[in-house]
Amino acid sequence: MRFITSLTRMWLTRTIQPFTFKNEYDRLLPFAECETLGLYVHIPFCKSICNFCPYCKVRYSAELCDTYIDSLIQEIHLVGSQHTERKKVTSLYFGGGTPALAAHRIKEIVAALKEHFIITEGIGIELHPDNVNVEVLQALKDAGVTKISIGVQSFCHKYQKLLGRKKLDTDKMLSALSAVPFETVSMDFIFALPGQTYDDLKSDIETAFSLGANHIAIYPFIDFTFTESPLAAMPKKDKRRLLDAITQYCLDMGYFRSSVWTFSSEPNASYSSMTRDTFLGFGCSATSLFKGQFKINTFDVASYCERISSGNLATALTIRFTKRQRMIYWLFWTAYSTRVNAKAFETFFGVPLKKMYGIELWLAKQFGLLKEQNGTYEMTLKGAFYYHYYENFYTLSYIDKMWGILRKEAFPKQIKL
Ligand code: SF4
Repeated sequence: MRFITSLTRMWLTRTIQPFTFKNEYDRLLPFAECETLGLYVHIPFCKSICNFCPYCKVRYSAELCDTYIDSLIQEIHLVGSQHTERKKVTSLYFGGGTPALAAHRIKEIVAALKEHFIITEGIGIELHPDNVNVEVLQALKDAGVTKISIGVQSFCHKYQKLLGRKKLDTDKMLSALSAVPFETVSMDFIFALPGQTYDDLKSDIETAFSLGANHIAIYPFIDFTFTESPLAAMPKKDKRRLLDAITQYCLDMGYFRSSVWTFSSEPNASYSSMTRDTFLGFGCSATSLFKGQFKINTFDVASYCERISSGNLATALTIRFTKRQRMIYWLFWTAYSTRVNAKAFETFFGVPLKKMYGIELWLAKQFGLLKEQNGTYEMTLKGAFYYHYYENFYTLSYIDKMWGILRKEAFPKQIKL
């Protein structure tokens, strides 16, 4: 598997050089030069730890959470004050962990960010289903949150049990969501669980929309090497059949496909912290992507707080991209939306997409993976499946390795991928 991803990387970046992440530190972050910047804040606390979850998280304690948020606010001012002018940014997303466990302090974090940034496209936050009650939702709304994403994973009791989750009270969820409305209510589901059928998944989606969701995300189950999940991955053929069938169902229902795994029932409903040209991340494990580099903060909560309290940023690793590496990174995450606009590529890189990747685009069209219309390349159903399939490879070859190391070492010397 690693062989395929390495070959593809060498071909697309036109070099045998791997992606090299080094323990390099920059006091100043080059975010002022980024035209469309998104913000991300990581809050790594969970009441209980799910065995399938690869994200950076620790068990919740009120005291630790408060100390962490004090550090987070300090980091925001450390970074934000690097430029005197308030910078316009697109969106702000809170991820975790379970950021809604700190619902009472989200307003304070947003206020700190607003001292340095002007947020133009709303604020999103992830919730555990246990957080969906009027009190928490109201606190989030008062803090300016406009989009929520609930990590349901499955409404089906059989899969809730498999995932170590308890049965959900959908009546309670419905009444809380009706009492406190948001512009986007997204629900996350895991698909390709062992034995999961089209009907199981369809029923999850129907339930989500009936409870007031206007956006859903169906993420594939990925068996990370460092998680303790006993579940086996679904065979490729079954997975493709399931993804194609459920995609077709969503399209037949008139839902808009906003990315490989997301569908919305209303045109303005969107939830994505991933498809940004550039972004700035705060908190442990948060990443920042600039025009020519990518940075990752330490995954270790204590080391994060220590670094910030000494007045230094918590960067663990930095990669300074070659031009082709940056292009591939851009294309990979832009393609997540199932569409790549040639003009947007040219605006970002100053060179036509066709000049850099004409052969690859031609081949992708010949193999029926892409269609081109007015300068926009759109994935076909087959293309979306193979993107998803390759993304799985990429996740297991690159992210699995990197996160596996970062979970053990607060500041590793170097990681080559
Ligand atoms: S799935 Fe959500 S609640 Fe479970 S451990 Fe991961 S972040 Fe925490």
